[in-house]
Amino acid sequence: MSQGTLFIISAPSGAGKTSLVRELIENLDGIQVSVSHTTRARREGEVNGVNYHFTNIADFEAMIEHGEFFEHAKVFDNYYGTSRCAAQTVLDAGQDVILEIDWQGAQQVREQMPSAVSIFILPPSRSELERRLSSRGTDEHAVIARRMRDAVSEMSHFDEYDYLVINDDFTTALQALQSLVISRRLTRESMQVRHAPLLDALLSQAPSVE
Ligand code: 5GP
Repeated sequence: MSQGTLFIISAPSGAGKTSLVRELIENLDGIQVSVSHTTRARREGEVNGVNYHFTNIADFEAMIEHGEFFEHAKVFDNYYGTSRCAAQTVLDAGQDVILEIDWQGAQQVREQMPSAVSIFILPPSRSELERRLSSRGTDEHAVIARRMRDAVSEMSHFDEYDYLVINDDFTTALQALQSLVISRRLTRESMQVRHAPLLDALLSQAPSVE
């Protein structure tokens, strides 16, 4: 039963989730991000199979039909989903998995896997969130207002999560995330599975061979 832990990380756009997760993965061994499927258009710089598995609506709906998703949701007009098999293969190999998903997906995952740890990342202030959402190009006021509404709607679900991390200072927020992953690995239950031979040896009454 050497299973890794599944971490759900959600945040409104502009909270810095993707950069934090990228850095977390670089700093820690034994943890991977699950690559989601999506029907949204590929943005400049994004690579198919790395950022997302980009797919069309018909294929996505066929995957839903065949029960291939662990969770899926429509987020701001596009489909997003986590393939069941991708996440499970990593967990079975004893690695931890991060799902970067929205609150709807988080609810579905909690129902199926109550042991999942969920973390919500928040921006440090409303004005800073607005600044981050407007510094993404030359967007009109209406576009930024829409992003703010979407962000507030996502944040309204913060109280469904186990942990809250405020991303004011990047390094501090990163340390908080790392601490959460490490402390989870140090639970007695997890240590007992991963260090079974050591615990057996330590508790053995047989004289040790010197
Ligand atoms: P973006 O299009 O900016 O990459 O992501 C938009 C939103 O979709 C984010 O809130 C992100 O967390 C969410 N999202 C990305 N992948 C998944 C997924 O596999 N499932 C769900 N439910 N949401 C996802």
